[in-house]
Amino acid sequence: MSRHTHAVTIAGGGLGGLTAALSLRQRGVQCTVLEQAPELGEVGAGIQTAPNASRVLLALGLRPQLEAIRTEPTDQVRRRWKDGSVIATRPLGEAVWREYGAPYWHFHRADLHRVLLEACLDPDRPGPVVEVHTASEVVSVDSSDAARPVAVTSDGRRFAGDVLIGADGVRSNVRRAIGLSDGLVFSGEMCYRALIPGDKIAADPATRFLLDRFQSTMWYGPDRHLVHYLIRGGEYLNVGASVPNTLDISQRWSAPATVDEMVEAFSDWDDRIATILSKAEGVSSKWALFRQRRDPFWADGHIALLGDACHAMLPYQAQGASQAIEDAAVLAEELSAVTRAGIPDALLRYVSRRATHAGMVQDASLKNMHFYHLADGPQQEERDRLLRTFEGESDVSYEWLWRGTPLRDPDAMPQSYPLVHR
Ligand SMILES: Cc1cc2nc3c(=O)[nH]c(=O)nc-3n(C[C@H](O)[C@H](O)[C@H](O)COP(=O)(O)OP(=O)(O)OC[C@H]3O[C@@H](n4cnc5c(N)ncnc54)[C@H](O)[C@@H]3O)c2cc1C
Repeated sequence: MSRHTHAVTIAGGGLGGLTAALSLRQRGVQCTVLEQAPELGEVGAGIQTAPNASRVLLALGLRPQLEAIRTEPTDQVRRRWKDGSVIATRPLGEAVWREYGAPYWHFHRADLHRVLLEACLDPDRPGPVVEVHTASEVVSVDSSDAARPVAVTSDGRRFAGDVLIGADGVRSNVRRAIGLSDGLVFSGEMCYRALIPGDKIAADPATRFLLDRFQSTMWYGPDRHLVHYLIRGGEYLNVGASVPNTLDISQRWSAPATVDEMVEAFSDWDDRIATILSKAEGVSSKWALFRQRRDPFWADGHIALLGDACHAMLPYQAQGASQAIEDAAVLAEELSAVTRAGIPDALLRYVSRRATHAGMVQDASLKNMHFYHLADGPQQEERDRLLRTFEGESDVSYEWLWRGTPLRDPDAMPQSYPLVHR
């Protein structure tokens, strides 16, 4: 039986919503997740979790499950677009684990999502099993009893709870339901996402170097940049490549992408980029990149927002999901510490602990759009000098970013996870 009398409804079963559900479950709070999609899952792409997010995932007691699916990069490498020359490197792997008490990891998104879902549903874990409803799009919220918000689905079902969390992504209906504008700003850029089979990379002498060390690599060039890293222990190279937008965003925000168009977008770069991209298999895609204006209003009474619903950011610090994961940890700390009467204040404390922090990451991610895409010249040279000497990008240091929001849970604080060889 739950330690708590209150029950939480979460709209959205993405990485943010599921981490919130699991964090609350672990603290004895009953959660119901409503997901619009007919089946739960994630896009076929990679995701990086920096120590600020990995420590939260580890504190959920998921170390064996995560270690079975993670790939741990040894270094971070920055390269120049024209000839691939290395601008800067910094050690990741054990160095990061030692310094921050938690690892820098790469995952296939579907694997990470599955581990979270299985933990939510596992009857043998502590806390009440999470109730998950798919094909349940939340279209409106009935707040006639402000202390019992009701999430209403498109087919008219009603889910009442003591708390409603909008973890329903960048086009959040819950956000709209509490009277906030979507606040979205289009960046003018889009990102190609592709998976390249590791065996094709190994078979080609021109790309085999990518398997020598597992690295998190970024190539900087005028107007565009490209990120790649290995996932599933080298089964795939995940590529994310940001370029000026060509999607008609009045029609759609994402679409399939062809290998030819990706290769063409990098035709004047180091030849190895075209060689890598030409090996893409499966459905590659392109995504228009939006961000939310920085906004400190995430809560109204018994309703609050989490993740992209309140702080959508450009992926130029690889931190959107990581910030959602931090939200989940803080939300669970605050909600599990109060009775029903204390819910509005607990949600305000959640916002005050998270909104400024996430807002700074939003700002830093936006600054990186300029920082990454400088044309060759004095500013680019200054940037490259900074990359060699500063532990971070933009004006946000890794020291601040990777330590994350201070948590009360000693299990989730740095130095909690001894580096032992696994
Ligand atoms: C190219 C790219 C690369 C990225 N790389 C990284 C990275 O390396 N590291 C990182 O930390 N972040 C990264 N991000 C950011 C990250 O993907 C997002 O910030 C993160 O997925 C947000 O999680 P979320 O749960 O808040 O929202 P979402 O992932 O959008 O999940 C929302 C969920 O809610 C569901 N939903 C939507 N509306 C409703 C509704 N009305 N009712 C019910 N369900 C609903 C959706 O179907 C979805 O399942 C990247 C983003 C991009 C575009």
